[in-house]
Formats: sequence, structure tokens, C-alpha cells
Amino acid sequence: MQAIILSIGDELVLGQTVDTNSAWLSQQLAKIGCPVLAHVTVPDDQKEIERALADASNRCDWLIVSGGLGPTEDDLTRQALVAVLGQPLELHQEWVDQLEKFFRSRGREMPESNRIQAMIPRGAVPIHNSAGTALGIEATLKRSSGSGEGCRVFVVPGVPKEMKRMFESHVLPAMKSAGGGAVILSRTLHTFGLGESHVAEKLGTLMRRDRNPSVGTTVSGGIVSLRLNSRFSSAAEASEQLELTSSACCQALGNLIFGQDEETLQQVVGDLLRGKGSVATAESCTGGLLAKMLTDIPGSSSYFSYGWVTYANEAKHKLLGVSNEILRQHGAVSEPVVRAMAQHAKGQAGAAYALAVSGIAGPDGGSDEKPVGTTWIALAAPDEVTARRFLLTGDREMVRDRAAKMALALLRCKLLGFAAPF
Ligand code: ATP
Repeated sequence: MQAIILSIGDELVLGQTVDTNSAWLSQQLAKIGCPVLAHVTVPDDQKEIERALADASNRCDWLIVSGGLGPTEDDLTRQALVAVLGQPLELHQEWVDQLEKFFRSRGREMPESNRIQAMIPRGAVPIHNSAGTALGIEATLKRSSGSGEGCRVFVVPGVPKEMKRMFESHVLPAMKSAGGGAVILSRTLHTFGLGESHVAEKLGTLMRRDRNPSVGTTVSGGIVSLRLNSRFSSAAEASEQLELTSSACCQALGNLIFGQDEETLQQVVGDLLRGKGSVATAESCTGGLLAKMLTDIPGSSSYFSYGWVTYANEAKHKLLGVSNEILRQHGAVSEPVVRAMAQHAKGQAGAAYALAVSGIAGPDGGSDEKPVGTTWIALAAPDEVTARRFLLTGDREMVRDRAAKMALALLRCKLLGFAAPF
């Protein structure tokens, strides 16, 4: 079973609106293990929409169409569907009644133009809209070869909120119940510290395209995530196989995996810190980002009290007692400086741990000896102070983001008592 996502709108083709609907829909389909063959975008042009509907229906089993269901002249998806299906539009009286009630409750008469939003092609199934005025439409398009059961098409409004509600209440249940009797269970495992290709190398044959459960990788903000989809005829088998594959991934990647599904690195570190003591931060190039990440988590006051942003050498000296001599001799981006920052932060905050970061985020300021991306991170723990140098890649924003995450990842390893696997 494969899907195509069709987005309709002049504003999308002109690049005035970013097509977030397709991205979101693809993410939802990935969760149920439904491969997406293509994202197609066409303008508010009836012939183009008809062509896209006909093309897509010959290539996929599920076609999700968003946009062009409004009441105005440029909303042509309904008419295009009518042309491709060869069926006339019919009024859905119950929806007209609801619309009239809706407008009356706001002290207005329903504009005549809204009636079109209650019209669907004969034989099609209406999809209730709990957030707007246009009915969605479910229909089956015949393939030009005449073979098979045809392509099931779901037309939903372009407004993201309406689209999401209809997908969740109607499209998703329809896809799940028609999934050929299959049950699809998914899990996402998150790693940080190694690039996608290194992670893939470690996973080896677990990533074979024909494997079930399947294992695929995605990257976002330096976090490499493994998406596991287990598709079997019974829930019990899907669950058992998902556990086996998940264990195999954990074995292949070991401590690189820091969490699963909705868990974030900062959440995981926060959970580990609870009951183990507090952490303080001393930041230069990250400008408070590390403290922000730690305090993103509700309840973080139980393990975070102090953070210093010491961007200038003077601040490092005045607030964190880093000696001017060390700063002059080694420069702000150096091992002795981050060690001193971490040690002083830990002492002054009375914390069990302290993280210090100093680096060259760029785009200027690099040298042969210390190119842009050079970042020193120190961790002062109850038993020792350690420091590591990283050469982070990317633009200024990426270097700062990765530096803060790297510091969190190092703290996680320390709290769990193992050497960093990156
Ligand atoms: P309505 O019934 O409200 O008129 P519609 O189905 O006709 O909805 P459009 O008029 O195409 O949808 O778009 C409505 C709003 O949703 C616009 O602000 C548009 O920019 C936004 N939108 C449409 N398609 C997408 C998309 N693929 N991704 C993100 N936003 C979208």
C-alpha cells in the first residue's frame, strides 16, 4: 500500500506559503509504515488538478489531497474531482443545516457561496469537518487500466488545523482498518554524537530495505533517529518483532541511544539529574543556550539553579575567576579556560556538576590552529574534571546548537557512568 500527497494552491506553487501539510502528512504516514511515493503540488487550476488526480490514482493506493475546498472561485478541487470521477455534485443537506445553524449562532445568515462547501460528488463519502465549514470528501478513483480496486482518495481542506483533524478522525482510521489486516507498530530511537552514515554503518543489515520490521534513519538538529516500523498480521507478532528489532538496534548502537519516541536529550538528562544533584553552567559561545535547554523542562529548578554567560574574557575573569594569565597564554577557547570555568561554576553554585563551553561559532574568528567550530567542553563532576575538544561543523547556529547538545550528552554519559561512545 503506497500513498501520494497532493497539495493544491497558487500560494504553494508561488512559494508564498510553505507546504507544511505534506510534511506533516508524510510524518503521520511514516508512523503507520505507509510509504509515500511523491509529494505533488499544483496551482488552483482545474485542468492541472484533474491531471494530477488522474496521474496519482494510477500510481498509488491512497491519495491525500489538501486545499481548494473553499467557497471562492479559485477553489476548484471539488470540480476537478467531479470531472475525474464523472459524477455530478450533490448537496449534503445535513451539512447545509449545520452550516446555517453555525452562521445563525453568530448572528449572521449563511452566505449563498458557502453552499458549495456542502456539495460532494455522487457516491462519495462526506468527511466531517470539526474545525471549519468545508466538508471533506472520500471517493474511489478507477485506474486507467481498470485493474484492481482503484485508488482511495481523501480530499481535505488546506487549512492545517482542519486538515489535521480530518486526517486523524477519518483518514487514519480508514487506512488502518484497510491495512490488509496488518497491524503496524512504530518506535523511534534517538542517538546523538555520531553522524547518520556512522550510525547506519553500525546498524548494518538491520537497515536492509526489505526488512520487516524496517529500520530507517532521519536527522534533525544533529539528532540521528531510527524509525522502526513493524508490520504483521497480528498485534502480538508486531509487538514481539518490534521488541526484537529494538533490542538489536540497542545492541548495535549501545549507549549512543539516549531515548525513544517523544523523549529529548534535555529531558533524559533532567530525569537522570533528579535525585543525583544539581548542575551549573558556564557558557561562552553558546550564550546561554545550554542553560535554556536545561530549563526547557518543567520542574528543572530541582536540579538547575545557576548559569553564567561569560562571553568576554573580562566576564570569565570577573565572574568565574579565570586567571588573566591563563586567558592570555591559552586563549578563551582552550582546555585550561573551560576547566577553570567549570570548576569555579561548580564551586560557586554549590552544584554536584558543572558544564563549561567555549568555542568559535563563526563565521569569523577562526585560525589554522583553531578553525571555526573548535569547541572545548569541560565537565566538573564530584570526582573529577574532564575536558574535550570538538571540531563541530555547520554555520554559527548549528555550531552553537551542537555544542550545547554535546555538553548535555557528555553529562548524560557521566551520570550513567560510561565513557562517551563518540
Ligand atoms: P478554506 O475552506 O478555508 O478556503 P481550502 O481548502 O480552500 O480552505 P486553501 O484556501 O487552499 O484551503 O488554504 C487555506 C489556508 O491554508 C491558506 O492560508 C493556505 O495558505 C493554507 N494552506 C493551504 N495549503 C497548505 C499547505 N499545503 N501547507 C500549509 N498551509 C496550507
